[in-house]
Amino acid sequence: MTARPRSVATLLAGVAACAVLIASCAAPTEQATPPTSSSVVVSSPAVSSGPLITVPGLSSPAESTTESPTPTSESPTPSSEPEPAPAPEPEITPEPEPAPAPAPEPEPEPEPEQEPAPAPAPEPEPAPAPAPIAGGRVVVIDPGHNGANGANPDIINRQVDAGFGETKPCNTTGTSTNDGYTEASFNWKVANYLRPMLESQGITVVMTRDSNDGVGPCVNERAQIGNSSGADLVVSIHGDGDDASASGFYVMTAERDPAGAEMAARSDDLAVNVRDGLRSAGLSPSNHLGSNGLWPRSDLAGLNLSMIPTVMIEAGNMRNSGDAALMSSAGGQQQVAQGLANGVFSYLGSG
Ligand code: ZN
Repeated sequence: MTARPRSVATLLAGVAACAVLIASCAAPTEQATPPTSSSVVVSSPAVSSGPLITVPGLSSPAESTTESPTPTSESPTPSSEPEPAPAPEPEITPEPEPAPAPAPEPEPEPEPEQEPAPAPAPEPEPAPAPAPIAGGRVVVIDPGHNGANGANPDIINRQVDAGFGETKPCNTTGTSTNDGYTEASFNWKVANYLRPMLESQGITVVMTRDSNDGVGPCVNERAQIGNSSGADLVVSIHGDGDDASASGFYVMTAERDPAGAEMAARSDDLAVNVRDGLRSAGLSPSNHLGSNGLWPRSDLAGLNLSMIPTVMIEAGNMRNSGDAALMSSAGGQQQVAQGLANGVFSYLGSG
């Protein structure tokens, strides 16, 4: 979640709270169903309850999501009826003589009415075709917070490196809908819809946590996972907790360019692709925060510690009834995942 700026002071306060975002959210209401895949889970040394790092390629008891959205695109073939053959003109047989008057020409049979060919059904909105992705690509998915963060304040409240000489709490609990659906659950679900979408294009996926019932990892550990994984990019998934009237997503990048201008430009490019990808999935940019779906931030440890192209998304406002309904539903979570996949594909396809 991210605090909203009512005033500079509140903004700063919110920003601080949000910086903590990367870390921890919500109440452990939901048992996550982990994805089935070949991956190995490595205990993260810094967190006692053992937040796990998923390392692709090794076998492990990975969890499996119950639903695995398979985008389908039907392409209706318009049928056209064959044109009926016109009826032959009847032969005219003159009456035999002595006929004083020529027999009137018989009226030609009227041509049977041709049925107009049915108009072809409109093509469904074409799913954005993924650009070809070169082999060997690696994407880090960082589902923000964790389900048991709230029950372990001693772990998540300790201060850790936040970049630029600053410190932040290890993690936070995150936000929730008014009905109590937690951000940690939402983030986890979206991550597990996104993962197979990326893997279907040959992309290797690294997750920063492997369940939704653990604690952490801390924000600095999550960033380290990205930095040490040889990944092409990081997508950190969050949901916001803003005023009820605010709605829509925004994509955040590091304003302070921790890895230099060139890397910052790549992050910005990634952010634009992800923003456009979310739009193409039918989602709307925030009506309240950021600008046109983008918001550079100087206060987020996950961004300030990352040395590779990284975006953090607030997929919607969990305190807004419309966004909450979408974010609590499997369909909405798949929609967000598809938007993220669209963005990742176009970014990797163009680079
Ligand atoms: Zn969050």
